[in-house]
Parts: sequence; structure tokens; C-alpha cells
Amino acid sequence: MRPNDTIAAISTPRGVGGIAVVRLSGPDALPLSLRHLSVSGLEERKATYCQFDDIDDIVAVFYPKGYTGEPTVELSCHGSLYVQQAMLQALVDDGARLAEPGEFTRRAFLSGRLNLSQAEAVADLIDSVTPAQHRLAVSQLRGGYAQTLKELRQQLLDLTSLLELELDFSQEDVEFADRSHLMCLVEEISLRINNLRDTFRMGNALKRGIPTAIIGRPNAGKSSLLNALLADDRAIVSPIAGTTRDTVEETFSIDGVTFRLIDTAGLHHTDDPLEHMGIKRAIAAAVQADIILYVHDATRPWADAIDDMQTLQDNGVDLNKKHKWLVANKIDLPEANRHLPGFIEVSSKEGTGLEELQQTMVKVMDKEISSVDETMLTNVRHYDALGKADIALRQVAVGLSGNIPADLVAVDLRDALYHLGTITGEVTSEEVLGNIFGRFCIGK
Ligand code: GDP
Repeated sequence: MRPNDTIAAISTPRGVGGIAVVRLSGPDALPLSLRHLSVSGLEERKATYCQFDDIDDIVAVFYPKGYTGEPTVELSCHGSLYVQQAMLQALVDDGARLAEPGEFTRRAFLSGRLNLSQAEAVADLIDSVTPAQHRLAVSQLRGGYAQTLKELRQQLLDLTSLLELELDFSQEDVEFADRSHLMCLVEEISLRINNLRDTFRMGNALKRGIPTAIIGRPNAGKSSLLNALLADDRAIVSPIAGTTRDTVEETFSIDGVTFRLIDTAGLHHTDDPLEHMGIKRAIAAAVQADIILYVHDATRPWADAIDDMQTLQDNGVDLNKKHKWLVANKIDLPEANRHLPGFIEVSSKEGTGLEELQQTMVKVMDKEISSVDETMLTNVRHYDALGKADIALRQVAVGLSGNIPADLVAVDLRDALYHLGTITGEVTSEEVLGNIFGRFCIGK
């Protein structure tokens, strides 16, 4: 599996900068670089000032086992677009291959320097913009729940050995492993898997933003509020791909807490089938969300809000399990009803009250976030793999209680082991690797 060619790429962001780094990795990284340098050798892990052809004065560093686990050379040049490209071109003309996205990290995985979940954490670390995202990525990079997974695998292997013992002596009609004992072991492993899976909701919310549905009647000012929140210069705004047709999603962070705001079609009674679909989606968004931001038009009767809460509750939105913030919008209008109990008063138009709303949002979520464990699940691939492992384990339990022959039960056990193994990459496929590393930038 070890690659035998040498790859090269510009590892700093595309564009002009103070410096740029061209990186080479592979068996020929050192001799290939030296053919262009004004020095005859590079000391290991020492910076050497030299010339690269007649292109630039640079600093070169050679790592016998670099980030990729292979011989690696990093060439720091002046950050001119011309210089970066000319150096890269010279190396490619000389036999290096242009690296594909994430190929350096892929090589780090193939050489055993990183396991698969650590390689994924590198991408998360690069993408992190808030302290919480950073903390989660670093903890996953340092191992995260790898220890828990290792223990789970060991428990499954022990279970397999116990079953195999039964298999080996099955001809002699002796039952070695007490099946109720095996059953207890299965339950214990399943519980641990599910405890880990339960951390995903919060982990994912921290990584991608806490899902916040903006709900309210048409014209209450939902879109205006979303825009006002996003336009606030305290917020870092980033677009999210894959928004549905009539719900708009945007993330923004205030004081390190990221919210994923989902603007929905207005709640009201309608016979129009298209609008009806929009409302169904709004309710679905509310079901999924951790936070409901209910926007009420303060010039309308208060009873609207009460009716709408009831509609949500009737449609399966468990309001007791969610944070809900009631916002009375349009308080700039003279006919607005003021001082509604429990409502935060804002004018999306004039920007009043937004500061108070944001502070409430951050204060409540900050408390939840600071109470979280750093080894929480943030990766949907891992979440799915644990789910599949648990399904296999449930089959094991069915087999054990139904006195199914041990060799058949062992098949399900191996299935569970397989799914756990996909998380850290003990078992993997080209397709999975392609998906993971394709998301990286070139040069990483
Ligand atoms: P949505 O249907 O709930 O998304 O409502 P919109 O955000 O599209 O707003 C509906 C109408 O209310 C628009 O004409 C807005 O300009 C107006 N509007 C929204 N917020 C305010 C506000 O705070 N004050 C005033 N006076 N008008 C507002």
C-alpha cells in the first residue's frame, strides 16, 4: 500500500503572502529538492538558507519522517504567486507529481502516523473557527475516544474468543460459555456504544452550529431578524451548502458559540399545497432544532403566539425539551404591544434589542457547552458506524437468547467488530478514503 512516488504541492493558501511553503513528500523528496538547491545536502530537521535555482532565496528543511511518515522537504519561499508556481513547476518538471487534495494526510494515514479518525480531525482543525470547534478537533487529533473504541474492540474480541471456545468443543456437547453471561457482556458493550452515540447531538451542534429554527407567522419578520442577526458585526457569518428549497440555513458565531439558523416558511392555516409543504418543513425543522426562536409580530394579538405554540406541540415538537426564545418584533411601530411577559423585544428594522437577544442566546448555550466532555462524537461517519455496530450486536443478542449455533452468532460479532474498525481505519475501502481525503485542500 505504501506509495512509491514523490508528490509536491503549495501547502499555504493560494495567493500572495509574506511567505509560502512548497512541500514534497516521498522517497525522492530529498534528492529531487537538492537538484534545485545551492547546497549539496540538508541536515535533518535543521533550517538551511539557500537558493532555489535562480528563482528565490529560500529556507529548506528536511524531515526523514515528516508529517506523512515519509521523507519530506519543506521549502519556504517569498510568498509571490510567481515564485510559488515557478518552484512547483520546476519540481514537477523534474519528476514530482502534483499532490491530490488531502494526499499528504492520506499518506500520513497509510504510513500509520495517524489513524483515520485523527486524519479527519486534521480537516476539522483546519476548518475550526470557534474555540469549541478547535477544542473538539484537537481532542480527536490527540486520540479522543480512540481509547474507548480500543476497549470496546477488546471486549468484543474477548466475547468472540468465549464463543469460539464453545465452537471448538461443540462436538463434545459441552457448553463452555454460559450464554446468560455472554448476554450481559453484549448488553454492557451495547450500552457503552450508545452512551458514545448520545454525545453526537451536542458534538455535532458544536461543530456545525446549534440548530436554531426561526418560527413564526408570515410577515412576523423572521427573515428580517435572520438578516439583522447575520449583519451584526459581532457575528462571524458563514454560508452552508445544501439548503432546502424553502428553508434557508446560515451559521453565525457570537462569542465563540456557533448557531445554525434555519429560516422557515411561516406558520399559518392554508389550503395552498405548496405553502402547506413549506409549513410541514418548518415543523420538521422545529422538531430537529435544539432551539426555537419564535418571532411574533408585536402589532398582532398575543393569542397568535399561544396558538402557534400549541400547533407546534400538536405536531410533535416537544417544547419542554428545547430552549425556546420568544421574540416580539417590530417594537418600533407605535401600535406594537409592549412588555409581553416572557418576550424579548426587538426591532429587526432598527436593530434594537438584538444585543439582549444575542446575549441570552450565548449565556444559555455557553452553560451547556462548558459542561460537555471533550471526547464527544462530532463525526457523522463515526456515528453511523457505531449505529451499525450496535445493530449487529442486537443480532448477537437475538442469537444468544435464541440458542442459535455459535458459528452463526460469531458472524454478527465479526460484523460489529468490522464497523468499529472502520472508525479508526483498521478496515477501510478506497471509496471511504476517497470521500474523506477529497474534502481536504491540496497541499494538506
Ligand atoms: P417573514 O415573512 O416572517 O420572513 O417576514 P419578513 O422579514 O419578510 O418581514 C415582513 C415585513 O415586515 C417586511 O415588510 C419587513 O420590512 C417588515 N418588518 C420586519 N421586521 C420589522 C421591524 O422590526 N419593524 C418594522 N417596522 N417592520 C418590520
